[in-house]
Amino acid sequence: MTSDILTDLERGDEDCVLRFADGAAFRVSYLSIRSRCQCAKCKPRQENQQRLIEFEEEVARLRVEKPRAEPVGRYGIRFDWPSGCSSGIHSFRHLRSVAEDLGSAL
Ligand SMILES: [Zn+2]
Repeated sequence: MTSDILTDLERGDEDCVLRFADGAAFRVSYLSIRSRCQCAKCKPRQENQQRLIEFEEEVARLRVEKPRAEPVGRYGIRFDWPSGCSSGIHSFRHLRSVAEDLGSAL
């Protein structure tokens, strides 16, 4: 599906713009992406609604950090957060669902 292919990532200081092959574009804050972090430490904390709410509250209190972003093959991006999380691979499909749930369409 073309909606699962990320064609561009523009990184600002507090948020980024994700563009997909179907033409959709979203502005998504780094905190939103981080609240859906796919690393081994954060992923289990999103396994149910209760834990996810607690995790989101914790992330919301973090200072906004601009992560390093590195492409992983043709299917994902690895975000590296200066304060702790790393090596969480966010697949394009995952990023699209985060963008639709938490981002704003452009
Ligand atoms: Zn994490």
